[in-house]
Amino acid sequence: MAISIPSRQLFIDGEWREPIKKNRIPVINPATEEIIGDVPAATAEDVELAVAAARRALKRNKGEDWASASGAHRAKYLRAIAAKITERKDHIARLEAMDSGKPLDETLWDIDDVAGCFEYYADLAEALDAKQKSPITLPMDTFKCHVLRQPIGVVGLISPWNYPLLMATWKVAPALAAGCAAILKPSEMASVTCLELADVCKEVGLPPGVLNILTGLGPEAGAPLASHPDVDKVAFTGSTATGSKIMSSAAQMVKPVTLELGGKSPIIVFEDVELDKAAEWAAFGCFWTNGQICSATSRLLVHESIAAEFLDRLVKWCKNIKVSDPFEEGCRLGPVVSKGQYEKVLKFISTAKSEGATVLCGGSRPEHLKKGYFIEPTIISDVSTSMQIWREEVFGPVLCVKTFSSDDEAIELANDSQYGLGAAVLSKNLERCEKVTKELQAGIVWVNCSQPCFCQAPWGGSKRSGFGRELGEW
Ligand code: NAD
Repeated sequence: MAISIPSRQLFIDGEWREPIKKNRIPVINPATEEIIGDVPAATAEDVELAVAAARRALKRNKGEDWASASGAHRAKYLRAIAAKITERKDHIARLEAMDSGKPLDETLWDIDDVAGCFEYYADLAEALDAKQKSPITLPMDTFKCHVLRQPIGVVGLISPWNYPLLMATWKVAPALAAGCAAILKPSEMASVTCLELADVCKEVGLPPGVLNILTGLGPEAGAPLASHPDVDKVAFTGSTATGSKIMSSAAQMVKPVTLELGGKSPIIVFEDVELDKAAEWAAFGCFWTNGQICSATSRLLVHESIAAEFLDRLVKWCKNIKVSDPFEEGCRLGPVVSKGQYEKVLKFISTAKSEGATVLCGGSRPEHLKKGYFIEPTIISDVSTSMQIWREEVFGPVLCVKTFSSDDEAIELANDSQYGLGAAVLSKNLERCEKVTKELQAGIVWVNCSQPCFCQAPWGGSKRSGFGRELGEW
């Protein structure tokens, strides 16, 4: 059942505030194409207020400031946020499904992960206390050396729309655990649940200014945040094009940035796999979250000796994926997030066809869905390595396929990309998997699976997929 979108304001200094320019952005349900609400649109003036509030939160009266409070003190708030999110899980998951188009089953998992991530960083915040002033052993005992861990300060956190609340949480939870004060700028495509996080923070009494949440457009709210001289670090997740702009503006002030950017990740299927299981992972690895995952394994490399049989099974598997409204029972694939994204994905497919590629299944809107930005799971073969569909990130439910004849060729094809975020290797021979894994240029390599992700393990890419790591102690 759909619910109504709460009408909210910006969250600055622990209070709801109308944006200074009073602008709002419509919220469109991608499954129905209807406007279902709106969110406030911050501009540079609101960023100014939020940064000042965050600065104050770092250095309040003695004993009340966030930066020098104990990790245990900060952990109490993180746990309270986790508990409140769990309490409201069903409500938040429904809002997320309506705002982003993700199947409700998936958003329910995502919200569990959000709560889990806050819990995990509560543990790490507590562990920080024990690590504080950790001594280093020196070769001469006439000198002593201690490492004092201090928060970076005020951090600007800019997040994307594919896991709206989870991607924001990956940044917010560690920043708060470390004693930073933060300004979060979620994506204008899906930011409803980030404002629910603001409501949760207000309810658990998070000290004012520790977390400020500014919904708004990238150039109007994100850019002034990234370039603000009083923001000490920027953590960004989004496209490579925007990441590059953020890095340029941060460079003007020699400001540290971490960039979690796009990908075009390979999945290598060797000839000794169990075919049905491998087909399931190949489908899951590309079509989960409606194909809008940065690490989607969207380039399938399959050994030539099993290619025909494997593709036959994979196509059958994909034809059984239920594409429907995210709230329908059994929905596995909802609409892509917006009209713009829908048109972009279809353009990728038509360009591939015009360049000589073959669409093995999907390629358009499912016939039974007359409205909404739905695209069938699409598999494309007869692809050359110079084609756009093979080289560029589609960020939609499109898998393209090539065959290989040797391990070396598979590795070469996998690494022949500007990106280096994820990769997957499927084979019964674990020694072979390990050998190939070491050769792959990727921040994350899955063996006999694709996409599972845990907040204990580092996350991040290489090459044009960005640098720096999130999650875990990183
Ligand atoms: P995007 O780059 O369009 O937007 C990301 C964020 O940046 C949004 O909040 C947006 O408002 C903001 N933004 C846009 N222009 C800006 C500017 N000039 N200055 C400051 N901020 C600006 O990306 P998107 O479409 O929201 O997300 C999809 C992309 O994100 C894909 O490329 C995907 O691969 C990537 N992604 C990467 C990861 C990862 O962990 N590596 C995770 C999720 C998504």
